[in-house]
Amino acid sequence: MKTALDPAIKDTPEGIAADAILRSCVHCGFCLPACPTYQLLGDELDSPRGRIYLMKQLLEGRGVSASTQLHLDRCLGCRACESACPSGVQYGRLLEFGRALTEERVGRPAVVAAKRRLLGKIVPHTGRARKLLRAARWLRPAMPGALRSQVPETPPPPGERTLAWPAPRHARRVVIVSGCVQPTLGPGIDPAAARVLDRVGISAVASTGTGCCGAVSQHLSAHADALAQVRRNVDALSRQLEAGAEALVFTASACSAMLADYGRLLAHDALYAERAARVSAAARDVSQLIAAESVALRGVLRESARSQVPRTPQRVAFQAPCTLQHALSLNGVIEPLLLAAGFALTPVTDKQRCCGSAGTYSILQPQLSQQLLRAKVEALAAGDPDVIATANVGCLHHMRSGTSIPVRHWVELLDERLALD
Ligand code: SF4
Ligand code: SF4
Repeated sequence: MKTALDPAIKDTPEGIAADAILRSCVHCGFCLPACPTYQLLGDELDSPRGRIYLMKQLLEGRGVSASTQLHLDRCLGCRACESACPSGVQYGRLLEFGRALTEERVGRPAVVAAKRRLLGKIVPHTGRARKLLRAARWLRPAMPGALRSQVPETPPPPGERTLAWPAPRHARRVVIVSGCVQPTLGPGIDPAAARVLDRVGISAVASTGTGCCGAVSQHLSAHADALAQVRRNVDALSRQLEAGAEALVFTASACSAMLADYGRLLAHDALYAERAARVSAAARDVSQLIAAESVALRGVLRESARSQVPRTPQRVAFQAPCTLQHALSLNGVIEPLLLAAGFALTPVTDKQRCCGSAGTYSILQPQLSQQLLRAKVEALAAGDPDVIATANVGCLHHMRSGTSIPVRHWVELLDERLALD
């Protein structure tokens, strides 16, 4: 694609990167069938190719309007288009820049702007999010149905084992990075990962001094806030690498993808570039780390199986989050681990399709999000599973609101299987 970028943008680092991305698109349209919003709305401007065209216009200074903003807002940022694209177009990176520029140039109605600001002030902060959730649970009975489904019911108090971290005992040591919403919505997930890692010879400790990975603010195009969160985490995680941790692990695939991107995000920051690159190089999704130890895991599972009474395998429908599939390219890594642990996987159609969670999308685009949720839970339920497993807390929370089938993090299932010996 030929481009003629606005001179004010052309020679900036973002402009140079965006120009290269725009030029790599050959308009073939192979990405269109992979795009969930194009499938739902049937409008070229709600497809990757259409959005690339809108961003080209924007970057060339040929007009940006509320319509541009609408079509970019409707994008999930799922990056299914990247996996489908034969030309390697880095759509997600272009979207990040396109949205930031649109945010600068097109205003938003005061109520919408205030809602976005409020989300940015609450969601990335664990304490504030917890208080809001507590208040929402209290008000839940009085809420209308659609809103009520977004507020999870008060769960039973977690058992002692659920929250227990094994004492460090191995030479190999990793840090599990706590995110922002996961300690509230899934407090048992990180300890479960630590117990599984312990069984394969790796001690895991919880990170200190970290907070939200920055993805929530990034979704809201609040880039200054996102970068402040990224720098705080780079400071804290660099100290933990210096203290001997071999890897920095997230159990939420969206946060893993963000952590892997820190090096790029701070590449032009003289003070942080080197340390951010080191942090990204050490970033792992928990699935990568456990899959790399699959030989040890299979040994532990064999031992466990010998001491257990044989029973009918639990039927699991696995939902691969978009960040796992398209941002981290870890498609197909978790399923063999679940099979090795004796679970039976049920068939799931349209695996690449987003569940509609997508950061703050379920709050800001509720109608599209609900349509995607309905289609996703229908596809997952088709094989009559006992449980739905996922790899991202955002998807977990979102899917729980749309189905009566229990939804769990896959590492919790693995942990429970190991605990039976
Ligand atoms: S598949 Fe890739 S090259 Fe083809 S239109 Fe989509 S983004 Fe452009
Ligand atoms: S990121 Fe997802 S929703 Fe956005 S254009 Fe690509 S496939 Fe469509």
